[in-house]
Amino acid sequence: MNVLVINCGSSSLKFQLINSESEEVLAKGLCERIGIDGSLTYQPEGGEKIKSDKAMPTHTEAIQFVIDALTDEKTGVVKSLDEIGAVGHRVVHGGEKFASSVVITDEVKTAIEECNDLAPLHNPANLIGINACQELMPGTPMVAVFDTAFHQTMPKKAYLYGLPYEYYENYAVRRYGFHGTSHSFVSKHAAEFMGVDINDSKIIVAHLGNGASISAVVNGKCVDTSMGLTPLEGLVMGTRSGDMDPAIMEYIAKKENLDIAGVMNVLNKKSGVFGISKNLSSDFRDLEDAMNNGNPYAEAAMEVFCYRVAKYIGSYVAAMNGVDAIAFTAGIGENSGTVRKMVLSYLGYLGITVDEEANKGRGEDIMISTADSKVKVAVVPTNEELAIARETVALV
Ligand code: ADP
Repeated sequence: MNVLVINCGSSSLKFQLINSESEEVLAKGLCERIGIDGSLTYQPEGGEKIKSDKAMPTHTEAIQFVIDALTDEKTGVVKSLDEIGAVGHRVVHGGEKFASSVVITDEVKTAIEECNDLAPLHNPANLIGINACQELMPGTPMVAVFDTAFHQTMPKKAYLYGLPYEYYENYAVRRYGFHGTSHSFVSKHAAEFMGVDINDSKIIVAHLGNGASISAVVNGKCVDTSMGLTPLEGLVMGTRSGDMDPAIMEYIAKKENLDIAGVMNVLNKKSGVFGISKNLSSDFRDLEDAMNNGNPYAEAAMEVFCYRVAKYIGSYVAAMNGVDAIAFTAGIGENSGTVRKMVLSYLGYLGITVDEEANKGRGEDIMISTADSKVKVAVVPTNEELAIARETVALV
């Protein structure tokens, strides 16, 4: 069976068509800068990458371009949509409603929508992706794979907040964590690639994309992660603030005459490296260029981002009482040697030494620590799509 996997983020949409028997990727690609301008990168198996600029005001146009590319007479890999047996959708927040993946029904969509408040940047985008696919591929079974599942092994001391206990009992206020499919896949693959026994391992996964999170994984099980009830907590992100003094909310509300929704909008969409760089960009390619050209706000954004990642790594070393391996993944983690170098510059005390040449590589499994480094460090591209395809096939 061919499974179309859709990973619909806030500003990008990754897709892969995977043959579930061979686990071969028949075609893959990426829609980027959705809502900004838009471009489609499409690559059929064994073929050249085709990149074209296309106007993508919303995710619906993006998915239509994906379908057009997959069924294109010349460069497509299937004759018609009939050759796609199922669609697997990454869904960010399952709340307490979903402890595992499910076949998508109207009830499931309603339940996902009920979690919108918990993931205001991502769940609506996921639902738009699901609806657009159902509209364009009626009758094809679809599965939702939730980002919150891998983190369910966290102990209470990691998931409880310092809030009245009743909020947890009555409203399920607790840390859930996100990017679970990625943290699960990367921690396992990192152990394999770096020659670490997963059953006797302490691994930190830094998933640094437009949304960014970090997790501590002991013997293959998540023990802590930086995102919380929502994906707003933790690292400084593309446009999200991450951790901050909660009292800032009241202070800014008064100063800027904002209500709570207005403040949340700022924290989700106007903060992070975008806000620190004075709205220059949320894209690290732009920020790196600007930093290299002496822009002090871009430099501040890069420094704040990297310092926060380094501090989280330090805290997870404490949480696990050690670390064997660190893996960098997702858009920034896989591609930005500059970010990795800036983060690792804080971690010499762990006995980490970086192979500067290797760290210039990108987009593939690369060991970036030297042979004598006390902690192994690698770039490990995430493969949420393959993980989602496996879950999808298991359910349909
Ligand atoms: P999400 O899925 O949350 O949208 P991604 O994992 O796709 O995020 O990461 C997207 C981000 O990766 C972009 O916003 C950009 O900052 C960063 N990125 C992609 N390519 C590069 C690159 N070559 N150098 C630096 N950063 C990059």
